[in-house]
Amino acid sequence: MSQATDYLQHVYAVIEQRDPHQVEFLEAIHDFFQTMTPVFERHPEYIEANILERLTEPERVIQFRVPWLDDAGHAQVNRGFRVQFNSAIGPYKGGLRLHPSVNLSIVKFLGFEQIFKNALTGLPIGGGKGGSDFDPKGKSDNEIMRFCQSFMTELSKYIGLDTDVPAGDIGVGGREIGYLYGQYKRLRGADRGVLTGKGLNYGGSLARTEATGFGLAYYTEEMLKAHQLSFKGQRVAISGAGNVAIYAIQKVTALGGKVITCSDSNGYIIDENGIDFAVVKQIKEVERGRIKDYADRVHGATYHEGSVWDAQLAYDIALPCATQNEIDEAKAKTVIANGAKAVAEGANMPSSPEAIAAYQDANVLYGPAKAANAGGVAVSALEMSQNSLRLSWTFDEVDTRLKAIMQEIFAQSVAAADDYDVSGDYLSGANIAGFTKVADAMISQGLV
Ligand code: GLU
Repeated sequence: MSQATDYLQHVYAVIEQRDPHQVEFLEAIHDFFQTMTPVFERHPEYIEANILERLTEPERVIQFRVPWLDDAGHAQVNRGFRVQFNSAIGPYKGGLRLHPSVNLSIVKFLGFEQIFKNALTGLPIGGGKGGSDFDPKGKSDNEIMRFCQSFMTELSKYIGLDTDVPAGDIGVGGREIGYLYGQYKRLRGADRGVLTGKGLNYGGSLARTEATGFGLAYYTEEMLKAHQLSFKGQRVAISGAGNVAIYAIQKVTALGGKVITCSDSNGYIIDENGIDFAVVKQIKEVERGRIKDYADRVHGATYHEGSVWDAQLAYDIALPCATQNEIDEAKAKTVIANGAKAVAEGANMPSSPEAIAAYQDANVLYGPAKAANAGGVAVSALEMSQNSLRLSWTFDEVDTRLKAIMQEIFAQSVAAADDYDVSGDYLSGANIAGFTKVADAMISQGLV
């Protein structure tokens, strides 16, 4: 065994011993380490600096109580988190997730991925993530507001435009960012740069809402192009019906693909005429309803319970945009049997390690989340720039920059993979390109 593999195994064992129950965090670390051998073989100085033990330990973890009053007047309590993972290349940056599954393991896995995703954008942002186990489903608007106000009352002590800039993630969209910002302002004063994903009338950026979905489509288009393929005339399966999925449907359709399915946590719809993104948007964003309603509204569309990735359905490209580990090995095999030639991830870590191995064995093109879904945080960073400049760019200006950033992320991943003799492995390429930037910045700054 080489010194590099010894070192990787040693650090993994240290992390596992420290946090044996943090399943998702360990999974993210494991996936990442699997791609790192060539880097540590070439750079013994990284081993000397013990860079991986430093990088896998968050700079700071904040956990707090979030008390709030429900509509019946009862006191409720949730747990809030902010993991300030790495600030080597800029202020901590990353979303807030509101979902009952949120715990420290989930926030740490997301924060860890965010470090390299943010580095890949080429913009000066470090990695962080936060959230709460609060379940927004079925809550009234007032309950959401009271929760957000209480959450921000504590969080406001730890964030700032040059230190830590949260944004949205699952369960946090424009409405929630508005309530969070309103409370921040009452406590600390108007400081637009402290949150991104803001409304357009108080400092938000055009194209931020669309950014993750559009960026996913741009990245996937680059990956397809590198193999003489394109979206034109292709059947595309998308999971999810949230912010990422909705705008992925819109852009994929504009690029000539036909999106035949999308889903929520109960089931999925099939529309052989191509999913109408405006109807999904109306149901999910305006009415806050279920995807089932689409089939009642659109002639010819059907609704089915269960996971879309279990469905036997012909498609060429799969874009998982729901949540972590939505595709396990069995589902990956179904996706491959259904004819998928490419999988690109709009959600964070939607494919289990076994699923990724199945894509690789079947020579399915694989665009990993930290590269493919970086468009959201990239436009968040552009929102920060516009806030500092005190001006707003047009939709086209932001969209043009987004597209260039996604193309550059793909190009960097290809270059890193070629450089380390793993050509065509875009997961290794993204990990290596992101990691070397952060590691070099840390080493330049001394023992941090
Ligand atoms: N939650 C998004 C992500 O996973 C966006 C984060 C941000 O805009 O800061 O990258």
